[in-house]
Amino acid sequence: MNIKTLITELKKSKIKISLALIKKAYLFAEFAHQGQKRASNEPYIKHSLNVAFILVKLGMDEETIVAGLLHDILEDTKITSSQLEKEFGKKTASLVEGVTKISNLKYSNKEETNIENLRKMLLATSKDFRVIIIKLADRLHNMRTLEYLPKEDQIRIAKETQEIYAPLAYRLGISSIKAELEDLSFKYLNPKEYEKILRGILTTRKHREMVLFELKDELEKELKKHNIDARLQYRVKNIYSIYKKIHERNYELENIRDLIALRVITKTIRECYEVLGIVHQLWKPIEGGVRDYIAVPKSNMYQSIHSNVITNHGLFLEVQIRTEEMHKLAESGIAAHWKYKGLESDEKFEKRLEWVKEIVNSEDKSEQLLETLKIELFGDEIFVFTPKGKVIEIPIKSTPVDFAYHLHSDIGDRCVGAKVNGNFVPLNYELKNGDVIEIITQKNHKPSRDWLKFVKTSKARQKIKHYIRLTEKIPVQRFNNKYDRLSKFKSILEIKDMKSVAIKFAHCCNPMPKDKIIALISNSNITTVHKTDCSILKTKKGRKAQASWIQDFEASISINVRAEDRLGLLADLMKIFSNSGINVEKANAHLLNNKVAECNFELKPKNLDNLSRIIDNLKNVFGVKKVSIIK
Ligand code: MN
Repeated sequence: MNIKTLITELKKSKIKISLALIKKAYLFAEFAHQGQKRASNEPYIKHSLNVAFILVKLGMDEETIVAGLLHDILEDTKITSSQLEKEFGKKTASLVEGVTKISNLKYSNKEETNIENLRKMLLATSKDFRVIIIKLADRLHNMRTLEYLPKEDQIRIAKETQEIYAPLAYRLGISSIKAELEDLSFKYLNPKEYEKILRGILTTRKHREMVLFELKDELEKELKKHNIDARLQYRVKNIYSIYKKIHERNYELENIRDLIALRVITKTIRECYEVLGIVHQLWKPIEGGVRDYIAVPKSNMYQSIHSNVITNHGLFLEVQIRTEEMHKLAESGIAAHWKYKGLESDEKFEKRLEWVKEIVNSEDKSEQLLETLKIELFGDEIFVFTPKGKVIEIPIKSTPVDFAYHLHSDIGDRCVGAKVNGNFVPLNYELKNGDVIEIITQKNHKPSRDWLKFVKTSKARQKIKHYIRLTEKIPVQRFNNKYDRLSKFKSILEIKDMKSVAIKFAHCCNPMPKDKIIALISNSNITTVHKTDCSILKTKKGRKAQASWIQDFEASISINVRAEDRLGLLADLMKIFSNSGINVEKANAHLLNNKVAECNFELKPKNLDNLSRIIDNLKNVFGVKKVSIIK
């Protein structure tokens, strides 16, 4: 690899780039790294050139390729970022800075440290996604030259690659890099298995290629007959994914059905479906073997139709059908974005990378974050269906609430129940491959804090938290101590001859506005207000005094509600207040035990009738056991 090779490749690509700038960056980097050598004993600049070359292959833009040439300058030489900025501009300098920050995160044996590192990495990435693409190119070349490092370093770097960089490449849809990173790390982490599978593939290769060649020929002829202009490729799965299949499903190498795949690349989407029809006429499709990622793209933007068929020789084969554009996207993922769109923002693109921002902005404690990250990044996905048969790809262990939020945040917010395969299930039910899920929604229903205990996807978690933050804008305050109640009750109650230090409503009969009442004043001058017909009253000692309600009062009242805890309880209670046209000044809620929730509201009713209606309505809310005035 030298500068000439890089320039030849640049000319071949259609990337808009100034060759003078590339040469300048090359000379600058060569000078800065002068005298430095790689473990392979090659001059350091070879590494920079290789990284830039990988970025050219991915079709990245000028700034990224220049930053690729300069990517190790801040870390390994005396050049400062202000010097870089002066020579190559602010954006290129900040790309190099971003890569340097990531490189400084050291992989450790502690899972928490790695998760925190990953979060920092995603943070750098969310500012400019090109940073992670440069880092992946850097890692790919380091993996290709890993043999020169001491064994200890090999294992550590291979592990980090397998656990962090390969899943990241997958999530960003850069399958070419993902597959090579997986195979290279597997080679160092499990050399015996690696060799075994490689040998297995090689010994059957000749035969397989012959068969594939025949099949390709057969399909090509058929496509010509139908006037479809498409190109065909065949491929063998990468070694690590074969290993995973053998290992996870206890298969023999020979039994892996989609070990080989025939790929048809068409000009239009319409042709993709035509090709699917032709393939199914030619070879028999396996039941349930069709996956339409064109209609339902994978979360990493991947689009293609996959169909598993049995050929006339009785051979299992996977046929993948996609357009040229989908093909480029499948190979380079988000990197392809720059190829076509440059840096202009693209809503669809942004949406698909939302998960990075969600993880970065998440307030989760490390434990929860770890769980979410593992599922988002490393976890497998399952396929489930809407009642109309739409396929949804969702992380393993997702619940109906995750599914609802995946469909739409409104559906998530209003979700009250779910049916899976026709049966009602709890909202924390763990979805399985092939489940048909019907979400039951209710107008005005609101998300519950409890959902946070079981949702698995960051989208659901984020949306629920967002809602909770909104509703908790009502200041949550502790209610004052008992003995300042006097002034307030004074405004709604008239008690004859009262010199009490405190007033309270009796628990035994819990008087409500409009009930006939009487006051009982104790020796210690505490006044308790009972209903006149309270049966307990007779047993109580103290002095009785006349009491009555004041119709037009102006004071804040505190109401206490006890109810069976359930989804949407607080929202239903709040609705009563807003329907009565009054504002809640303070609110708080907590669980007394698993089942019973206690909510306190401070509000300013218009008058006694208004208060009375509010209390009656609260009592009618489903699950409410007791409503009392506490202040
Ligand atoms: Mn490097």
